Amino acid sequence: MLKKIVTRANCPFCIDGVNPGDPPTTCDYCHGLGEYGTFKLTYMCETCEGTGQVGGEDCEVCSGKGYIPVDFKMLEDMVDKVNDIMGKCNDIFEKVNE
Ligand SMILES: [Zn+2]
Ligand SMILES: [Zn+2]
Repeated sequence: MLKKIVTRANCPFCIDGVNPGDPPTTCDYCHGLGEYGTFKLTYMCETCEGTGQVGGEDCEVCSGKGYIPVDFKMLEDMVDKVNDIMGKCNDIFEKVNE
């Protein structure tokens, strides 16, 4: 028989853990360079921590991890979302007890 084992799924509520309603924007301080200074001496931009981008709120559902652990109970609780999740699941089915 085929037993369904749900491990984890890409979070359907965000893009790589970032809330799509609040996408990151280019850092104004370093203009997206991630650093500032003269050509001899540069500093990592503290505003964006060297990434050149600021903002990008962590997804509340997955805490910014980009994936969520799921199981059948959870899927049952999220019937309206299940198709969405199933479509994005990694390794959602595992063959056991053949
Ligand atoms: Zn910056
Ligand atoms: Zn998420």
